[in-house]
Amino acid sequence: MHDLLRNTPDLETLDKRYFFHPFTALADHERNGPHVVVKGEGVWLEDNHGARFIDGMAGLWCVNVGYGREEIADVLQHQALTLPYFHSFSSWATDTPILLAERLIEMAPVPMSKVFFGQSGSDANDTQVKLVWYYNNARGKPGKKKIIARNRGYHGVTIVSGSLTGMPSLHSGFDLPLSFVRHTTAPYRLWEAEPGLSDEDFVARLAGDLENLILAEGPETVGAVIMEPVMGAGGVIVPPEGYYPAIRAVLDRHDVLLIADEVITGFGRLGTMFGTTAMAMQPDLVTLAKGITSAYVPLSACMVSEKVWRAIVDGQGALGAFGHGYTYSAHPLAAAAALANLDIIENDGLVEQAGARGAFMHARLQAAFADHPLVGEIRGTGLVGAVEFVARKSPATRFEPALKIAGRVVKAALAQGVITRALPHADTISFSPPFVISEDEITQMVEGARKAADAVM
Ligand code: PLP
Repeated sequence: MHDLLRNTPDLETLDKRYFFHPFTALADHERNGPHVVVKGEGVWLEDNHGARFIDGMAGLWCVNVGYGREEIADVLQHQALTLPYFHSFSSWATDTPILLAERLIEMAPVPMSKVFFGQSGSDANDTQVKLVWYYNNARGKPGKKKIIARNRGYHGVTIVSGSLTGMPSLHSGFDLPLSFVRHTTAPYRLWEAEPGLSDEDFVARLAGDLENLILAEGPETVGAVIMEPVMGAGGVIVPPEGYYPAIRAVLDRHDVLLIADEVITGFGRLGTMFGTTAMAMQPDLVTLAKGITSAYVPLSACMVSEKVWRAIVDGQGALGAFGHGYTYSAHPLAAAAALANLDIIENDGLVEQAGARGAFMHARLQAAFADHPLVGEIRGTGLVGAVEFVARKSPATRFEPALKIAGRVVKAALAQGVITRALPHADTISFSPPFVISEDEITQMVEGARKAADAVM
């Protein structure tokens, strides 16, 4: 099958004729066509012309255990033959989701009670909003429906999760955001804090912005805040020390829930199993996807605390049976893949490895980019990093939109055999490779990116 695909001469033409690409500049695509990947092994990808690339992004921050893992393929084959699908509506169940739910609750970063399964980070965040609404209806506070996210936060693209996403360019053309969503300041030191501002003062300002927003809206109208432990697609933004405890204190004062969107940070990316732990977050709800199966099969999960769960169950008298779920909620094949993926992560010590390789990657990024005249900041923690380009370092000054360079650097890096990704709301290139990347491959990836930056300037 695979060879048959490789020998198809005309994939580019067929793609242009039939395939509506997600997140793509479609007019450019009609002219230029696709880049077709046909094979992956470890951190390496091969295209249909035989060119090879280091995948510096693990797909879209997700193929954490690397490509070509037989352990997952074997489990998938076995599960597909044993029971490819049955649903979990109306108290039906299959075995692998039960086992996965138990395992997730056992490993949860803060005490959690139950797991609800979906397919993607976007649908999981939609579910979280419905859970917040249901929770507040069930406990007789139906006014608490607004959800606050952050500017530059990324939470998905469905109508609700796309509204939570704090990127205007992803709203335009779609009539988003919905009216119950608000956005607050991101902990983005480069652009939100003047040079020399202490972490303590920056945290106080950010917590103050959030509290002022809640007070302006009316605490009786605000249900939850959603935050990524470390913001990914918005620019790889690591909050200052003390940030989440300060945020939690604000939320506690106003009876507002905290949703941790761990879609990127869950399962080891920051060198701890969960970003919640690394960043001292105390969420009531946790969203998981991507690394839960290392993307071998789509799967997402909402972890729900006892407080929220109990109110939802007790609400049944007034609200009736819980009327939410997808055909593919708790898909047995996806749960089997997740169990195999978690085995690999634990047996191979990949969380610790992500931390160690991450430290190596940050040292290489500093060595390669710190002296660059157009680099404003090198950021990240664990095995996620970013380099932001600026027109002037001091005072930090952005390029005009038409002159931004990250997109061109990403293209030039391909010529060096390196896949990185331009982040839409910062003039930034990002790195989020599989945890199995070696030190040599990290060096190759970072040096390729530096050569690419030199080539476009
Ligand atoms: N939340 C975060 C933090 C993400 O990074 C993403 C995707 O990149 C999502 C949610 C949306 O996930 P999906 O693309 O699976 O819908």
